[in-house]
Order: sequence, then C-alpha cells, then structure tokens
Amino acid sequence: MVPIEQRDQYVMQFKPRMGGEQLQPISNSDIIYLEHFLYRTRDYVYSQQIQENLFREKRQKASLRRFEPNQCRICGQLCTESEGFWASLLPWDTSAAHDVKTDSLKYCHFCMDTQTCNNCMAEEKMYIPRELQLEKEPQRRRVCRPAYELLEKYKTVRVDKENPALSFKPELRRLLVLRRIVHKMFDMIKCKLWEEMMAQHGETMFLILRDCYLTFDFICETESLEEELNKYFKKLQSHFK
Ligand SMILES: [Zn+2]
Ligand SMILES: [Zn+2]
Repeated sequence: MVPIEQRDQYVMQFKPRMGGEQLQPISNSDIIYLEHFLYRTRDYVYSQQIQENLFREKRQKASLRRFEPNQCRICGQLCTESEGFWASLLPWDTSAAHDVKTDSLKYCHFCMDTQTCNNCMAEEKMYIPRELQLEKEPQRRRVCRPAYELLEKYKTVRVDKENPALSFKPELRRLLVLRRIVHKMFDMIKCKLWEEMMAQHGETMFLILRDCYLTFDFICETESLEEELNKYFKKLQSHFK
C-alpha cells in the first residue's frame, strides 16, 4: 500500500503503443489497480488463452479412451436416446431448462460439443464469450459443467476500443465514455473518500481502472452497468460540488 503522503516518491511507467516509455505520477486508480486488481482479480480475467487451455485439456482427456457415439465425453456414461442426440445437435436449440427426463446427449454451446450427458451439463445457463462479440443480444445458453466452472471463475474481460461488440452496441459505447469520466473523476479525489468507496463498492471497483474491464453480465445487461456507473458518478459528482 502506498500512503497518499508518500505517493510523490513513486511514478508509474507506461509503454505506449507508439513505443518508448512514459512516466506519470501515481493516481488513485493506479493504486486500486496495484493493490486490489493485479493480485486478486487479474488472475480471473478471461482470455483466449484460458479458453484454449480448457479445450486442450478436454481433448486430451477424451483422447485417452475410445467413446461410443452415444457416450458422454466427460464421464463416459452410455446414453440410450439417439433421437434426442440428433435434436441436441441443433445449436439453435436454446429451449429453457434442458430436458432431463430423457438421457439423450446434450449440446454444450461453449465447447460446441454434442456429447454431454445430463449429469455433466450445468444447471445454470451462461453467456458464451464468443457470442458477445458476434451477437447484438446474446442469450444465456446451456453449457457443460467444466465450461460452467470456467465461466464462473473467469467472469471479467478486458474491453478495448477495437472490441467488435462496440460496433453494434452503441449503448455500450456510450457507457464506456461514462466509465472513462468516472475513472477521471476518481483520479481527481484528493481525500480519503476513495478508500471509503473501495470498502463500499469493492466488488465492482474494476470499473474505475485506467483500462476497461467488464464482466460478461455487464456487457450483456447494459442496464445494470449503467446503474452501477451512475452510482459512482453521483457519489463523485456530489463530492466535487
Ligand atoms: Zn457425463
Ligand atoms: Zn462444454
């Protein structure tokens, strides 16, 4: 922890895209980044690499044994219904709670894999990262348990200006501007208000960082993002009045 009084003794070093390096005084959000984000949250930021690792692990496990066409690729359970299996091949089948009466194999929207038995499907539906960048209104979809665990753990993702989701989601782009304003205002606080805010909003504090980090839920449910950002904005605005 860098106490406010000693802050002037340190600088932040940045490497801009154009090359070279840039030194800047430490800001409030830098401290939040170093103290709370770098060591706690950043390990849970979703990336392509994490997704690839899960696929590789799954494929390796599956390659260790031979599977029948009607066998679950995760636990090896044999399923009977072949009709349901063909139905589960349809990726556009987004019916609500998946039917657990038949023991047909199910489609996992994350792995894009058709061979998962009922026991290996997660009960809760999740947003699929791939769809966030391709669809205007992504839906929560059925996924297998390993995919569920991964998506539960890695909920946050870094969104930069080039993110394709921004091209068809103007409201998200507008909110990212608001986020930037909140970030700038936060860095202007000179008193200990920010420590108070940190204690109060610890969960979503990544919203005030220099780089834009969002959870999948915030990207898909922009109303909740707006609500959260407005809370920060009002608090900071009343502080500067
Ligand atoms: Zn299974
Ligand atoms: Zn899966």
